[in-house]
Amino acid sequence: AWVPSLPFADLCFLEEPPNSITIEEFILSGKYGRRPAATSRSPFTCGLTGKSFTATQVPQRINFLARGLAQALNITPNKGLSLDKVIAVFSPNTINYIPLVLAIHRIGGIVTPASASQSPSELEYQLKKTGAVAIFTCPQLLDTAKKAAEQCGITDDKIFIMDFSGAKSTTSHISLEKLISIGKDLPDLEALNWPKGEGARRAAFISMSSGTSGLPKACVISHYNVISNVLATATYETGARSHFKFDTQVTLGLLPMSHIYGLVTVALCAAYQGDELIVLPKFTIDSFLDAIQRFKIRRLYVAPPIIIQMLRNRDKCLKHDLSSVANIHTGGAPLYAETAEQLLKMYPDWHLGQGYAHLLGMTETATLICTTSEHDIDLGSSGSLLPGIRAKVIDSDGKEVFTYETPGELLVQSPSIIPGYLGNGRADEETFVWDDDGRWIKTGDEVVIRKGPSGNEHVVVVDRIKELIKVKGFQVPPAELEAHLLTHVAVQDCAVIPVPDEAAGERPKAFVVKKASAAGAVDDEELARQISLHVQNHKAAHKWLKGGIEFVNEVPKSPSGKILRRLLVDLERKRRARG
Ligand code: AMP
Repeated sequence: AWVPSLPFADLCFLEEPPNSITIEEFILSGKYGRRPAATSRSPFTCGLTGKSFTATQVPQRINFLARGLAQALNITPNKGLSLDKVIAVFSPNTINYIPLVLAIHRIGGIVTPASASQSPSELEYQLKKTGAVAIFTCPQLLDTAKKAAEQCGITDDKIFIMDFSGAKSTTSHISLEKLISIGKDLPDLEALNWPKGEGARRAAFISMSSGTSGLPKACVISHYNVISNVLATATYETGARSHFKFDTQVTLGLLPMSHIYGLVTVALCAAYQGDELIVLPKFTIDSFLDAIQRFKIRRLYVAPPIIIQMLRNRDKCLKHDLSSVANIHTGGAPLYAETAEQLLKMYPDWHLGQGYAHLLGMTETATLICTTSEHDIDLGSSGSLLPGIRAKVIDSDGKEVFTYETPGELLVQSPSIIPGYLGNGRADEETFVWDDDGRWIKTGDEVVIRKGPSGNEHVVVVDRIKELIKVKGFQVPPAELEAHLLTHVAVQDCAVIPVPDEAAGERPKAFVVKKASAAGAVDDEELARQISLHVQNHKAAHKWLKGGIEFVNEVPKSPSGKILRRLLVDLERKRRARG
């Protein structure tokens, strides 16, 4: 197996991750993170309004919110199963997002973070899969939340409103602020006092991911998984922070906290390290640039499409003072080396002595597998394995690869790998494998190991073996779109694959076999329009068939009936290579 080869290895010491506490205790107790020492920084500041709470107020508000919520939902922290206390957070990023998550953990509950772009039926699917009993949402998403909730028997008194960029709620639903003010007058909650090992047994989050194939599944992520990944990421960073002589920093909190990358790697890691997170609910080039300039953000976490937007808005970028930026991390989807080079041409200072990183992670490894240090720049690579992580590369014959630059599937072992999918033993069997060295996760990513400029071993993603499509870093499971397309009256059969897209990374394209009954009713162009609309009406925007629809006579399948997507992907690649 490959083991981490770390920059500043002599400065990195990985402690044993605590396994009997919640994430809330890990971040707030003062025994672990840097938070208490960094009281001058507000943990979360709204990048639009500048609103924030101090480092002293935030833990108090979490405490009051936990008390108010426990009363509203009739929950006793140490009683009952945590799987009966699953609470959905269906909201864009706000300064209250992480405090709410930590308050839910404080009452022994589980958070299921739901993407704000979801349609009612997508949200309903998630609520049902995770068994959510309550929802926190914002005024703008209330209608969607109510439609989904109704289908799951979640009553209005279990739908709470949290603010979003200052918007005031005009509904009768109880607000997060109201829960906090109720909680102020309630007695303190009993301590959780978990026995040793409980942190690994208790779920903190249930996030949706399609894994290597099929429909979205509910990933059970334990407190221990997240704590160990935050600790490993912070340990990795300790080296760079002491080398570059800074302790805490201002970080951009734009990536959606409903996705594991924005939640763990960006927000929880920042909170743990005493950094200040400048929270933005969504990307617009103006609010992004204004926030960097106004709050002197040092670290940018972005998804690759944001870099494309920066390149397209070069003049606007150059009119802003972005000199505070020292490093920019991108992840969640591939970033092409040419794009990175163009950005570094625009901001040569970001390159010199500072950095650029390309993080590789996944929901099932909650979150990071590898990352790049500020001094270890290697365009196109995802950097070194985090401390505590081991990796194997397995070639197409199932043999382990020990040489550089030889492609194979990446298998990973780490304390942050999830225990499994909720109620889906089959997906567990497909995703996790055991050998003499223990349990490994098959990432479904094809990688090579190569030596980086500093001599450290780097992981480079070269292709994706699994079915997943990544649009702007968001998951689009082909099987989900195929199942939906089959509900259209004119669709006999179909297959969905990724096609490259400059702005979004990838887009879904559908190959469709028409039903005989549909032949001749309308022309192909009109039918394609109707099929596209069928997707647009029911699915989040990143799932729309912007890669196109092609009508075919049949979909290639294996003798057992499995769609041979790879053939279609290769066909598309050949066509594009020919131009
Ligand atoms: P998710 O669970 O949504 O985070 O998706 C995880 C998958 O996204 C990985 O297994 C990769 O296929 C892809 N991915 C994430 N980060 C990168 C990256 N830096 N380069 C290439 N693919 C990535």
